[in-house]
Amino acid sequence: MLSRKIEDETVFIVFDMEWNQPFPGKTYPFDVSSLSGEIIEIGAVKYVYDSGMLIQKGIFSCDIRPQKYTKIHYHVKKVTHKTNEDLQNGLTFEEGYRKFREFCGPDFILTGWGNSDPDMLKTNLKFFGMEDRLNCFFLDIQPIFSMFSGERGKQRSVEFAVDYYGIPKNDSFHSATADARYTGEILKRIFDCNKTSEVLSVISSSSIDPDLKREYVNVSAEADRSEDALELIKGWNKICPICSGRFHPEISEFRIRKSVYALYACDEHGEFFSRTRIKKNKSGHYYAAAVLRFATQTDYYLVASKREEYERFGPVGAPLESADDNSIAEENLS
Ligand SMILES: [Zn+2]
Repeated sequence: MLSRKIEDETVFIVFDMEWNQPFPGKTYPFDVSSLSGEIIEIGAVKYVYDSGMLIQKGIFSCDIRPQKYTKIHYHVKKVTHKTNEDLQNGLTFEEGYRKFREFCGPDFILTGWGNSDPDMLKTNLKFFGMEDRLNCFFLDIQPIFSMFSGERGKQRSVEFAVDYYGIPKNDSFHSATADARYTGEILKRIFDCNKTSEVLSVISSSSIDPDLKREYVNVSAEADRSEDALELIKGWNKICPICSGRFHPEISEFRIRKSVYALYACDEHGEFFSRTRIKKNKSGHYYAAAVLRFATQTDYYLVASKREEYERFGPVGAPLESADDNSIAEENLS
């Protein structure tokens, strides 16, 4: 997590996109994994921060004519109610994106619900040979809503948050523009319904740089004992992968069952979630698989709750029943 100062006249662009998907089993003349979705709509609302409030300054709405996935995928059709005919209208992605950036202006915080939209935007920019650096901070409103609504760690939908704040439902959901408007209303309510200093502190420390690689993995060589496997990649997660500066621990390393957890911080690059899992391969040897990533709010609660479990039950963890619950929760998070 990085710090982005919020002061009067700071611009927030709340955006949402819809994208079409390739048909499973169909062959395309390019690697489908390099274009997991093709953007067909961009919607956005501009807000300007002024003394603890957000003032709406404009709405952006743009249909994009896809060039690769020109037939609507049944799942996308079900969600967006768009038809094949709709996909023949709109601007090219290049033109639509240029207009979108014009609307954003030179300096802004990009925000949205969940973090899949900035990733998809970068995927499309890269695929179509455009500059894929977004050069702005991104703020995911979903975990911030969960925090202020007292539902830490829960992943709620836009509609849930709209109901929570009693926002009038005048538009249908799942058009990019309507969802961007609803998400903007939610962000506005978060400011209106909570103490400004608290909102600012959470928001400024939750922005991420979408142009930085967010997750780093390392897999050890084989070893006969699990402890030896851990030893083989020891120290790898103690150093910031961006600046090579030494981390200081926020929650020191501890092992619970087959995983070692920690929460680290770099002065310049913020908090990192660290988890190393001990695994066994087919030949019966152990190896360690480690992941280090920018800590999200959810990661933070995961480490904190594992730490609590560790303090209560030690490295063996909680008795089986609740241990199962934990492993399910964990899978959903990764
Ligand atoms: Zn660093």
